[in-house]
Amino acid sequence: MTIIESVTLMLALMYSISLLYWSGKKWGALLTGGLLIGALAITLYWPLLLALFIAAIGLAITNCYHPELIKGTVRANTLREVCQHLLALSMLLVGLQFAANAALLKMGITPWLMRPDVGDGFLPIAGGIELKAIISLGIWDQNHPAAAVMLTVVLLTGLLCKRAFCGWACPLGLAGEYLYKLRKRVIKREFLPPAWVDWPLRMLKYLLLAGFFYIIFSMPSASIPQYLNSHYHKIADLKMALFFITPGVVTLICFGIILALAAWRRQGFCRYICPYGALLGLLSFLSPFKIRRNTQHCLIESKGMSCDKCTRACPAAISVHTQKHIRSDECQACMRCVSACPKKEALHLSTRNGFTLSARGLTIMLFMLLFMLPLIAYVSGFWVSQTPTEMRMYLIQHLNAIGH
Ligand code: SF4
Ligand code: SF4
Repeated sequence: MTIIESVTLMLALMYSISLLYWSGKKWGALLTGGLLIGALAITLYWPLLLALFIAAIGLAITNCYHPELIKGTVRANTLREVCQHLLALSMLLVGLQFAANAALLKMGITPWLMRPDVGDGFLPIAGGIELKAIISLGIWDQNHPAAAVMLTVVLLTGLLCKRAFCGWACPLGLAGEYLYKLRKRVIKREFLPPAWVDWPLRMLKYLLLAGFFYIIFSMPSASIPQYLNSHYHKIADLKMALFFITPGVVTLICFGIILALAAWRRQGFCRYICPYGALLGLLSFLSPFKIRRNTQHCLIESKGMSCDKCTRACPAAISVHTQKHIRSDECQACMRCVSACPKKEALHLSTRNGFTLSARGLTIMLFMLLFMLPLIAYVSGFWVSQTPTEMRMYLIQHLNAIGH
């Protein structure tokens, strides 16, 4: 695990402990702290110990200037934005380290910068095949184990807290937001498509997801070991990087369309293209947590007033004020609607039987899912790629010649 991965992990878990403590869940804080110390004691890995030190200092400094952030008593929007930006910064640094590692390999120099394994999270098909290998054959891939771990993590977030991964963690979603804001500065007009255009466009992401499923499920189980041992799989991450660094004409046109969609409408990329968003959207139907409107407190029913502040705050253009609970696969549990509501008791992210998740609670749940499983995987030896550096150095020289 690289320093960037370690610091991100330690910061997220230490922050979760702080939020658990200040929300009164002291046993939860104690248990998480115990797991963290246990993991450190088992591995005694110096980057994790150093990361713990950096995280503790970072949280202590933040506590001096913004104690409300450490306690999680800030507004939902602030909490979400801080999480999003810190995770995006971490992913940016991970991307730079990955690029530096690959460049050194290409030059035939043994990299002094480690490959960040979390980058395997961008290999969802490899992750899907690896999960299939674990379930059907009991084989645990050693080349990109983090791909299976990250896919499992993302699936769990969808099952438990809707598309909160999209709304709170995804760096691409954040980049799309900035692109949209930039476009709005230049062209103020909103271009919302009519329903008959919007619906088929939304189905595009499900088509892409179906393509992913087809690749994973059409591969016979008997062929999986051969695939996992292939040169192609061993450098699937570098192949993916090459695809983005040296795009062909068709790829460039696709990139152009994606950027145009993201700039054209808010969350355009998440809404129309992202297959991860589609997967999480499907899983979100199973999530026990939904945005629920309490009609006894909502100004519309309780006071007979006209109000649609929640709907106007929603980036996914969901008509919140006309529904009792939001089942939509586009809801990213971003809680903007909850923040915008003038009646505290009217709108919640909660289960059917009334268990409510505050923004602080959602942050804890999301961080535990996103970071505790990778830590357990790391301690169990199922995180770091075992592909020898010499093998990657050899394969990167023949990248273009290596096919499926
Ligand atoms: S319904 Fe609320 S939580 Fe869901 S996307 Fe819209 S604003 Fe966010
Ligand atoms: S913003 Fe609150 S009070 Fe207004 S319609 Fe939505 S839920 Fe009701």
